[in-house]
Amino acid sequence: MAQTEKTYTRIPEAEEMIKQLQERYPDELWAVKPENLMVMGIDNKERGKKNYKLAKILSVKGVEKAIFREANVNIQYIVEIYCSDWAEWTSKKKQLILFHEVLHESSKGIGCVKHDCEDFRMMLDVLGVDWANKPDSELPNLLTDDEKVQFNLNLRPNMLEYCEENDIKIEDLNAENKQDDEDAAEDANEVAEALDFEEEVDA
Ligand SMILES: [Zn+2]
Repeated sequence: MAQTEKTYTRIPEAEEMIKQLQERYPDELWAVKPENLMVMGIDNKERGKKNYKLAKILSVKGVEKAIFREANVNIQYIVEIYCSDWAEWTSKKKQLILFHEVLHESSKGIGCVKHDCEDFRMMLDVLGVDWANKPDSELPNLLTDDEKVQFNLNLRPNMLEYCEENDIKIEDLNAENKQDDEDAAEDANEVAEALDFEEEVDA
């Protein structure tokens, strides 16, 4: 079956949001140039059920960059989302997703910066994002501490597969996630929220 070609609508509301984010967080988003970015929404189809990429960011390069230059269009990055998602997301979620995407912008204006953290969410959740650089006194001893570390079992790896296998919708689990760890440990049907922001970095 031939795939329908995606069609796009520009989303000025998202572009304005990025501008505001950049104004409010100039240090965090120092590499972001809102004027060189466009947000385009796919308007003729919804995100597939198994597509966990909420958004992606593309760097304009090569022949497209050359054509843009001919046309006097100074766009270096394109954020791509689904219009149907955009309509559903709360303002907070829109902000966070856009914030995440523009962090991929390179200060050089070409190419994308990859995620800078590779780890397991179950560990990050308990230990903090920078645990490997923390002093020993701030780290738990997994083997000898009186209390075992209370990992959130919802954050175990392979939970996306678990969801698929058991036909559970990730979205439905957000509320359940608030339950305490003990309940979560008992209830194997619960799965982690999986805000997966993978994108085509360097597509
Ligand atoms: Zn990302």
